[in-house]
Amino acid sequence: MPTKKLIDGYRRFREKYRSDHAVFDRLAEEGQDPKVLWIGCSDSRVVPELITGADPGELFDVRNIANIVPPASSGACATGAAVEYAVIHLSVHHIVVCGHTECGGIAALAADLEPEKQPHIRSWLEFARPAREQVLASGTAEEDIYPETIKANVLQQIANLRSYPCVADGEREGTLTIHGWLYDLHTGTIQAYDRESERWEPIARHTPGAG
Ligand SMILES: [Zn+2]
Repeated sequence: MPTKKLIDGYRRFREKYRSDHAVFDRLAEEGQDPKVLWIGCSDSRVVPELITGADPGELFDVRNIANIVPPASSGACATGAAVEYAVIHLSVHHIVVCGHTECGGIAALAADLEPEKQPHIRSWLEFARPAREQVLASGTAEEDIYPETIKANVLQQIANLRSYPCVADGEREGTLTIHGWLYDLHTGTIQAYDRESERWEPIARHTPGAG
């Protein structure tokens, strides 16, 4: 039963909390000071702290379907509020927008979702549609449309991110670096987009300043 597994996990966490309590005390008393805003998909297989080894207090997470950042002018506030909080109040130095292979949100762009049953998914995914349209317009081979849309969506959301004045200011002033990442569920590897070469490269060879 899933809840039993969660409660057992909680018990193990309590043991860790007791043995490592200095770390948790520090986080509670001194507040959080994450250096990275992570914008990723809600997909249960893409766990940011697991794939990056980040500890509590190190990543400020935003996760939603298809790692979307609605444009600043859109009026969709949830993700924008997290972006503003992370940049203005937490002074993060990095923003990672991480897409992933086999993204159900991106796959749904090719489906006809019933407006009566799934109005919120339909509306939300419109923020990713420009990525699909761009890939379709480029004459991409049929079998590559899905994976290329996943990549294009990361770049689309980075462009949307730059529509927030605090993000644009941070980049211009050199206090903020944006990274476009792609996590491959099949290999457990991450690729990063290199803005200069306009290519996706294995992250170990990647240098900051992408997107
Ligand atoms: Zn996804």
